[in-house]
Parts: sequence; C-alpha cells; structure tokens
Amino acid sequence: MIPFLDIRASVSELQSDLDEAYRRVMASGWFINGSEVVAFEREFADYCGVRNCVGVGNGMDALYLILRAYGIGPGDEVIVPAHTFIATWLAVTNCGATPVSVGVFGDTYNIDPVQVAAAITSRTKAIMPVHLYGQPADMDSLNALAEVHNLKVIEDAAQAHGARYKGRRVGALGSAAGFSFYPGKNLGAYGDAGAITTNDDELAEKLQMLRNYGSKKKYHHEISGVNSRLDELQAAFLRVKLKRLDDWNARRQEIAARYLTVLESLPDLELPKVRAWADAVWHLFVVQHPQRDALQAHLELQGVQTAIHYPIPPADSGAYRGRVRSDSACQAITERLLSLPIGPHLLDADVDHVVHALQDFGRRQ
Ligand SMILES: *Cc1c(COP(=O)(O)O)cnc(C)c1O
Repeated sequence: MIPFLDIRASVSELQSDLDEAYRRVMASGWFINGSEVVAFEREFADYCGVRNCVGVGNGMDALYLILRAYGIGPGDEVIVPAHTFIATWLAVTNCGATPVSVGVFGDTYNIDPVQVAAAITSRTKAIMPVHLYGQPADMDSLNALAEVHNLKVIEDAAQAHGARYKGRRVGALGSAAGFSFYPGKNLGAYGDAGAITTNDDELAEKLQMLRNYGSKKKYHHEISGVNSRLDELQAAFLRVKLKRLDDWNARRQEIAARYLTVLESLPDLELPKVRAWADAVWHLFVVQHPQRDALQAHLELQGVQTAIHYPIPPADSGAYRGRVRSDSACQAITERLLSLPIGPHLLDADVDHVVHALQDFGRRQ
C-alpha cells in the first residue's frame, strides 16, 4: 500500500538530530518560553523574510490571536474563502466576528479577488486569504483592495511554508500570517504547534502578551490573554526540520511536476493550475474527477491511499449550517476533489505506481 502520507519517514531521516534536540531540552529543565522557542522564532522569521515571529500553540490560535490583537470582534466582518479547512472560519467565529464566505478559483483553489471586492461592506475589517494546498493566493490584488478600504490582510499560511509569490515568501505578504506546524504540514512538529509572522512590530509585541496570559513580566497581566504557547520540545524539533524544509519542498515540486506532465492526457481528470507568479510547495496534490468516488475506490484496490480535502465545505458543516449561505459552486468542486499521495519521502516508483493506477482507471471507463 502506498500511504497517503508517511510521517515516520521524516523521523527516520532525522533521528539522530531529533534525539539530540530532545536531550538538549530535557537536560535544560526548561520547557516553556525558553531559548529554543526564541531561537526558532528568529530562524523562522529569517526564513520567511519578516522581522517578527511569535510561536503559539497551533495554527488556528495563530489566526485567532492575530484577529484579537487587531481588535477584531463582535460586529466585524472578515472575508474568508468558501473552500478551506474549517480552522480559517473558526478563528473568525471564535473572536466573535462574522466570517463572510467568498468563492475560490476552480483551478487554483485560491480566493477570487473580484468576488472579494464585491463582498466588502462598511463592517469588513480584514481579508483572510488561504494559500491552499501550498499555492499562494493573488496577494497583490488583495493588498490593493485592503489599501483602498483600510483592511488588514491576514494570510492563512498553514499549508504553504516556503511557498513564494513573485519571489517573496508567504508569511511576509500581508499584515500578518498564521502558520500551523501540525505534524502533516510541510513543516510539521511532533505534536501541536503554530506561529505568527509579521513586519508589524506593535502587533508582535501584543501577540507575545496575548499568547501568555496577557503578560510580559510574570504575574503582571496587562491585557486579557490566553494560554497558547509553542513549547520548547516542539521548537527544538522544528529547528531541526526547518533546515530540511527547502529540500523537502523541492522534492514535492519534483513529484508534482511529474504528475502534471504524465497525467495531462488523461480524460476527465482535471489537474491543478499554477499561476505564473506562484512558486507552490504542494502541501497537497488535488485533482478533480466527475467519478471521484469510483476513482478513489479503484485506487484503493490498486494499493494507492488517497484523501479528500475537504468532504464538506465549512458553510455546510454542522458548525455553520443554517447560519451561513451555502455556496453551490464550492459544493460542486467538493464532490469532485481527490488528493493524491505526495510528500518528501514518496519514491519515484511509488509515483509511477499512482500514475499507472490512474491510467488504468481511464482505460476502464
Ligand atoms: C492545518 C490548518 C489550520 C489549522 O492548524 P492547526 O495547527 O491544526 O490548528 C488552519 N488553516 C489551514 C488552511 C490548515 O490547513
């Protein structure tokens, strides 16, 4: 069986460095807000090309805390893509603001700036584009809208560590960005972890308090905060993995290039498009097919594990159903989506196997 994603392979590759990181933290006797977190924050800020990085507990908290730090709350609207992982929406809901759903392009899965423009009201405070599946959204268009309407642009970069837009890394393209280091992400911890990147120094300072009970100095609580911290062990592991991120993304790009070339001629299979200005890092390789369920079952029989990202749009989930207008274009896409195996440790032979299984399905139709 070709697994959809093999996380253990990253552990094997880096075993001795991870062991050394573990020993270093255990020997220090310091597990929260110590030198590993500070070092990782510096290294990740440099990697993204921004001045500040603030480690937090997970990716959703990263987005939620940015909104909180900007004072966005009840009565405010935040524009989000109709098609995304639900955390994007929940970050908005959890700070009391209203998510306003906007359609995405059916070939890049990124939010459509023309539809964003149409959704802006006097209550809109921010646009939250998602660099979904690893491809950056059209940031120049969104930033131009934000400038005119005086809005924040908050990148959901949870799936796009290292991706570039016109040569610049995501995380440095808007007012602030939220990253997730959930184990399966391109840069993943071995547990929950997240971070915020920003060139807004004032925001960064506020976030450092917000994540830690609203305090800078122990037991001096200047604002009402939360407990959402990146821990020392995860920071130490992330420092090891950050060194491998570019190589691992390059391997993902190699696999995606092969899929794009070889699968192009298959009937009924729609491949993802990459805009000229985008350097995608292929967190996921998502295709569309009119007989998606039959294709998925066929691949399973041929030993290829696939997944669906995501089977239910946020608007139609139990969390929002009946309260948010459902988007029929988004539903139509959802029914056709299928994510093929991709990852830094997938072998060429595995990629060939996936391709053959897809070609075989095409022949049987
Ligand atoms: C993973 C993810 C998140 C949330 O990250 P967690 O660390 O799981 O909280 C947010 N947005 C998107 C698009 C994601 O893929």
